[in-house]
Amino acid sequence: MYHRYDAVIVGAGGAGLMAALQASRQARTAVLSKLYPTRSHTGTAQGGIGAALGNVEEDRWEWHAFDTVKGSDYLADQDAVEAMCREAVDTVYELEHMGLPFNRTRDGRIDQRRFGGHTRPDPKDPSKRIAVQRACYAADRTGHMILQTLYQQCIKQGVTFYDEFQVVDLLLNDGVCCGVVAYEIATGELHVFHAKAVLFATGGFGRMFKITSNAHSLTGDGLAIAYRRGLPLEDMEFFQFHPTGIYRMGILITEGVRGEGGVLINGKGERFMERYSPTLKDLAPRDIISRAIYTEIREGRGANGKDFVYLDVTPATVNRYFQQDGVDRRITAHDVETKLPDIADFCRTYLGVDPAKQPMPIQPTAHYGMGGIPTNVEAQVVIDSRNTPLPGFYAAGECACVSVHGANRLGTNSLVDIVVFGRRGGKKMVEYCQQADLTPLPAETDGPARAEIERIKANRATEAAGKIRATMQELMMDRVGIFRKEADLSQAVSKIRALKAEYEKVGVRDKSARFNTDLLETLELGYLLDLAEVTAFSALNRTESRGAHLREDFPDRDDANWLKHTLAYLDGENIRLDYKPVVITKYEPQARKY
Ligand SMILES: Cc1cc2nc3c(=O)[nH]c(=O)nc-3n(C[C@H](O)[C@H](O)[C@H](O)COP(=O)(O)OP(=O)(O)OC[C@H]3O[C@@H](n4cnc5c(N)ncnc54)[C@H](O)[C@@H]3O)c2cc1C
Repeated sequence: MYHRYDAVIVGAGGAGLMAALQASRQARTAVLSKLYPTRSHTGTAQGGIGAALGNVEEDRWEWHAFDTVKGSDYLADQDAVEAMCREAVDTVYELEHMGLPFNRTRDGRIDQRRFGGHTRPDPKDPSKRIAVQRACYAADRTGHMILQTLYQQCIKQGVTFYDEFQVVDLLLNDGVCCGVVAYEIATGELHVFHAKAVLFATGGFGRMFKITSNAHSLTGDGLAIAYRRGLPLEDMEFFQFHPTGIYRMGILITEGVRGEGGVLINGKGERFMERYSPTLKDLAPRDIISRAIYTEIREGRGANGKDFVYLDVTPATVNRYFQQDGVDRRITAHDVETKLPDIADFCRTYLGVDPAKQPMPIQPTAHYGMGGIPTNVEAQVVIDSRNTPLPGFYAAGECACVSVHGANRLGTNSLVDIVVFGRRGGKKMVEYCQQADLTPLPAETDGPARAEIERIKANRATEAAGKIRATMQELMMDRVGIFRKEADLSQAVSKIRALKAEYEKVGVRDKSARFNTDLLETLELGYLLDLAEVTAFSALNRTESRGAHLREDFPDRDDANWLKHTLAYLDGENIRLDYKPVVITKYEPQARKY
């Protein structure tokens, strides 16, 4: 079936919906989503959205920008960081005015809490930085509230949704984007969406790892589709492990727990973060804490001699450390129940642990891809090291790399990223639609996607996908996880290539057209394999340690050679790498200490 729109937005998480709200005001817009919109992963975000409102204590967007750049280990593009941190303030108020039920301070303003790596100068000693309350939150359901609020606004505004339409290809004609091909999950029909402008907001790809906080749907479709169409992927070697996933399950326990005072405790009962980050301790950035947890475990200080440690938010422990740190606060069991209700609920349900009374067993969990489809600050996709835009193609949110997170994202900054750059992308699409003509479709539209689907349906190895997926996830966890080295990475690359060869033979038992999840998951496995290969290959090439990318064989950051972004292109069967400079405005790279 053929459809024609001005603007097509792929993905209905926070980034896609924010773009849709903007674009649909002035352009005929459709939103395509493989999930029902309110099931998007944005809805699971717990802890908060960062903005220097200064509601609880003094704060400035410039301090937020500094923290973001330092948190990124100086790899973020500073023009993009400045735009994000400045606009975060307005965007949060815009969400508030749309009706988002934020928690409130006593005097009725949006309440804010502490989060890792967010600081302000210490009023007693301005050369030191201390934790600041910057994360705006709605209990531990901030993302849920953002997603519901944006979806309601979209419905009110009459945005056209194609729910459960899975995009399988991007249409380009002579270097101009002109639409997408989508598979209708309910019927198996392929649809061609012909458009002036397309924005990808397809979210992350954490499912390439075994232990992850990411939903099953986070398979990197948008990235892989763009990559297969010859576009580069930027900085894929930087994948964030969140320090606190529920042991063995990977389900996330928000950093908001530590924001409320929670502390990490090893098997010897020590608050070990004091040794790794003397100033910020349990509120250091995620790369530093995840590494510290694994170091404790490797050195035999895991809990019960195993590969986990404890996260303790029981009032007795928290209040003792508040007193020790000179923090003028106390928490009660009631605070745990009201500020972290979902966490308390998960832990009781999945672990039989009551966080108001007992510590929670945790281990780092694969959480967030800093890399993605390269864009400029207007969310236009750029295709080379000179940042040449591809006309008509935009990307925002976790699938994009603008790059505001560099080598390590700070907590609360993804929700800011999706709303700020979703909004910018939507606006830019409108401008483009007003001046551009509709580019004709290329000769081949749904042909390649149809051929791929038929190929999979005809294949015989109908049981192979599960094994390939499990092997990939284990391999990525063991060899491309928190600690990396050359031998592991090169083995990972060659093993993933072998898995890709096996994947060519993968078939599906279900040959039907209706709700064929077997087929769709097989397509998604193909995307993950491509992205796993790019991640391992980019990591193998970067011979330094920076942010989330820790090379045991190259333990130091190397600005002389590596203060640059990686661009990975698909080149026949191989990956070709190129690099582009980091944009530096006013924050010169310094040693990163917390
Ligand atoms: C458990 C958890 C907690 C988090 N907590 C926080 C937090 O407190 N603060 C913070 O800043 N960040 C947090 N994050 C990160 C943040 O939530 C995500 O990075 C962000 O919400 C991503 O938004 P998005 O709009 O880019 O994508 P998503 O919300 O993931 O949406 C992706 C959309 O793309 C669609 N899609 C994907 N592929 C296709 C396809 N092939 N065809 C059609 N549609 C497709 C999906 O249907 C979905 O609608 C958390 C993440 C997780 C996993």
